[in-house]
Amino acid sequence: DPAILLEGVAKRYANGTLAVSGVDLAIGQGDFVALLGPSGCGKSTLLRIIAGLIPASSGKVTVSGGAGPEALGFVFQEPTLMPWASALKNVRLPLDLLGVARSEADARAAEALASVGLAGFETAYPRALSGGMKMRVSIARGLVTRPRLLLMDEPFAALDEITRQRLNDDLLALWQARTFTVVFVTHSVFESVYLSRRIIVMAPRPGRVAADRAVDAAYPRG
Ligand code: ADP
Ligand code: ADP
Repeated sequence: DPAILLEGVAKRYANGTLAVSGVDLAIGQGDFVALLGPSGCGKSTLLRIIAGLIPASSGKVTVSGGAGPEALGFVFQEPTLMPWASALKNVRLPLDLLGVARSEADARAAEALASVGLAGFETAYPRALSGGMKMRVSIARGLVTRPRLLLMDEPFAALDEITRQRLNDDLLALWQARTFTVVFVTHSVFESVYLSRRIIVMAPRPGRVAADRAVDAAYPRG
């Protein structure tokens, strides 16, 4: 079974904007897919449809394992951390929602923080963390349920180049160490070639798939 199957998916917003149209896609388990295209071409809309955050207007969306927090994690461009909660508590949130017992949730959240290089920052509050570190907390929160699917919407776009490159490498290392599928929205050609195994290019008006290419490991990895 593919991780994600989209059949004839379209999205028209309430104001009449046709954001996505005629999208047919199968994304394999464990793949790392970049969704590339200019601003406004429907990348975020498509990702939100896959995440179940918004409904498609037509077509069929199948996500292997469903759309619960144990099945998929979502990382937004803005880290969207709760400012009043420690890093650990922010990361623990999806486990709290799943009703995981406190001690187990704390242990798993600490492990997730360590996996993004933030061991020792459990009690730090978001305001005390740099942009890159906040994004790491956000990634840890996306991964804490060990989802089979990680959806990332321009996660590093607001960061400086060095931080971004470091996070790209760390994300690749995480992906290589475990089995999960990544769909990574970006408008950076470099980032899509660097990270992904497959690049799906979207074109605007209306958002549709314009090209779909396998990436032949352009850069040496792991
Ligand atoms: P991208 O992620 O590629 O920048 P989006 O999916 O955000 O593209 O947007 C695709 C199109 O849909 C754009 O024309 C955008 O203005 C429009 N759009 C996005 N969200 C909404 C919304 N909530 N209501 C109406 N139009 C929207
Ligand atoms: P990163 O990409 O690792 O998040 P940033 O450039 O955002 O790095 O980090 C800003 C500062 O925080 C840097 O001085 C960096 O060394 C420090 N920093 C980042 N992660 C850690 C960590 N895990 N432990 C200690 N210091 C860190």
